[in-house]
Formats: sequence, C-alpha cells, structure tokens
Amino acid sequence: MKGFDLHEPTTVPQAVGLLDQLGPGGKVLAGGSDIVGGILKDWVTGKGMPLPSALVDITAIPDLKGIKPDSAGITVGAATTLSELIESADVQKMVPLLSDACKTIASPLIRNFGTLGGNINQRPRCWFFRGEDFNCYKKGGDFCYSVTGDNTYHAIIGGELCYIVHPSDTSTALLALNASARVVGPSGERMVAFDSYFHGPREDVLTENVLKPNELLTEVLIPTPAAGTKMAWTKLKDRQVYDFAVVSVAVAFSVDGTGKWADGRIVLGGVAPVPYRAAVVETALKGQDVKTAAKAAAAQIRTVARPMSLNAYKVDIAQNLIERTLLQALG
Ligand SMILES: Cc1cc2nc3c(=O)[nH]c(=O)nc-3n(C[C@H](O)[C@H](O)[C@H](O)COP(=O)(O)OP(=O)(O)OC[C@H]3O[C@@H](n4cnc5c(N)ncnc54)[C@H](O)[C@@H]3O)c2cc1C
Repeated sequence: MKGFDLHEPTTVPQAVGLLDQLGPGGKVLAGGSDIVGGILKDWVTGKGMPLPSALVDITAIPDLKGIKPDSAGITVGAATTLSELIESADVQKMVPLLSDACKTIASPLIRNFGTLGGNINQRPRCWFFRGEDFNCYKKGGDFCYSVTGDNTYHAIIGGELCYIVHPSDTSTALLALNASARVVGPSGERMVAFDSYFHGPREDVLTENVLKPNELLTEVLIPTPAAGTKMAWTKLKDRQVYDFAVVSVAVAFSVDGTGKWADGRIVLGGVAPVPYRAAVVETALKGQDVKTAAKAAAAQIRTVARPMSLNAYKVDIAQNLIERTLLQALG
C-alpha cells in the first residue's frame, strides 16, 4: 500500500484547515473501510485521480459523533458508526427506515467502525473503476468499459458517459427521508438537501457529490416524519452474506384517511449513478389507493429505464421490489 501522512485533528476547524492546506492530495479518513481498505490498498488511481498522500482522520473529533433527537428531527454526526445507528432507540422509533437500511450494509464488523459520513461519501464499486487495468472516465481516462464489457451490475437509469451505480444504502434511505447534510469548509458552512447532494457523470465524472476537496460533511439532519408516515426498506443482493445492492428500495409516504397516497418519496439504490428518486412512480400513485395501485404504479419505472446489454433483469427486479416495498410499508 502507498504510504501517507496521517493527521489527527480534534476539532472541525482544524480538520477543514488541514484539508484546505493539503489540497486535492489530502482526503478525509473516517473508519477507513473504503479509503484505506479499498482505494489505497487496491491502488485505485488514474490521471484524474491521484492516490492521496495524506489522510485527515476525523474520528477523534467529538463534535462529529452522536445522535441527537429534538422536536425538529434527528441530527446524526458524520463520524457516528452504522452500528450506533442500528442500536439507537431514537432512530428505531422516529426513522426505522434508516436503521433497517443500516442493518443490510456490509458485515457487523464493518458496521462497528464504518461511519455514516464514510458510507455516504464512499466511492463507487464498479469493477472497472476499481480494477487497475482500466483507465476509465472516473479516473480521468476516456472510456467507460461497461459499455462494451460486463455490465451486469451497472446503471439501468440515468447512466451516460459513465454507468456506475451509487453504492450507499444510507444515502438511498436518507433521500427518502428528505434529509439534509451540513457541509463545512474554510469559508463557512452550508446546508445541502440530499436531493441535490449527489450528481451524475455529466456534471462531473470524477466525483459523485457536491463536496469540494476542502469540505467536510459534519452531520446529517433528518426531519421528523409526519405522524402516521409509512416506511419500508428492501434490498436485493446476489448473496445471503454481505453485499452491495443489486437493487434497493426505500419508501416513506403518508396516506389519507381512505388509504390514498397523500405525499411521499420512493427512492431506488443500485440502479443509477445517484440514489434515484422514482418520480414517475410517485406521480402514478398520487390520489390513488396505494394497495390497489401499487402494481401498476411500480410498472412505471419501465418508462425511465434504459438497461444495458446484460442488465435488463434489474428492471424487472426494480419493478417488483417497488411494489413489494410499498405493500410492506402498508403492513
Ligand atoms: C466488504 C464490504 C461490504 C460493504 N457492503 C456495503 C453495503 O452493502 N452497502 C453499503 O452502503 N456500503 C457497503 N460497504 C461500504 C461500507 O459501508 C462503507 O465503506 C463504510 O460505511 C464507509 O465508512 P468508513 O467510515 O469506513 O469510510 P472511509 O473509508 O473512511 O471513507 C469513505 C470515503 O468517504 C470520505 N469521507 C468519510 N467521511 C467523510 C466526511 N465526514 N466528510 C467528507 N468525506 C468523508 C473519505 O474521504 C472516503 O473517500 C461495504 C464495504 C466493504 C468493505
């Protein structure tokens, strides 16, 4: 593995100052399951993606840890572990969708040190991006090898230029929960709704989100769901042990007194370069009895799908999983 300098700040301003000083060669280190265990150890690098020469460890910053509920919702520090999210009685009570999603991530060992911020900002798992023989767009190259190569797990929606799928299960759940991220940089802080936190390859193929190299995601704010909000999470994996989503679905919605869709979100993971909000399905459910309309509404996902040569099977899975997750949320 390539050597690197390690910095261990104890405050957010120190961490941001270090990132600013180090420039693009400095990266945030949280649990390290991706930046060290994946990127550095596997030498995931290219012309547009130099390996970091320094890491800024944020796990000794007390302000980045913890789960704080209040009347507006729940605030989760970016360095909170996935296990802490699963175990939190407040998360289980207010937003069980998030703890259910966390339970399906990786293994208990990884969840014990993998953090929420790291999960949201992890790099894609595309085997061409991760493979040292492929100088793909995402590493500064000039080709997407999934177009002519094995695209079994690649994007079926919204892929262009590069066909990665977004790997983070928490991001899929957080978008369904209408959450926002607090981002801190040298010139101050800003709130970014998860609706606009991620971007596709056309906006910038080298990155997956709005964070600049000198910015830190410090916490996630999840608004209190309206009373009676129905939620559910499903994730289909290739194996029974830990694995990334082939397709995942997060739903959070409310119904009126007669069971008709009032408002809500349906978000898919594993299908697009960003966590994908299935607006076509939401529109088809508007004013409809969710139980009876779920099947036809779920089929609307076909209208936006553009599968590649080997992954049309994911469109069938997405359709069926949307229907199943909606019915599961109804109980
Ligand atoms: C075997 C295995 C299976 C996995 N399965 C799944 C799965 O099923 N679903 C899933 O969603 N994930 C899965 N993962 C990914 C894993 O959950 C994430 O790697 C983990 O949550 C990342 O957390 P970390 O703290 O270790 O991140 P790190 O590796 O420390 O960081 C990951 C990235 O995020 C950046 N970063 C971290 N924190 C911040 C922050 N606060 N602000 C800005 N940037 C930040 C780092 O610079 C780095 O680029 C798996 C990983 C492995 C190794």
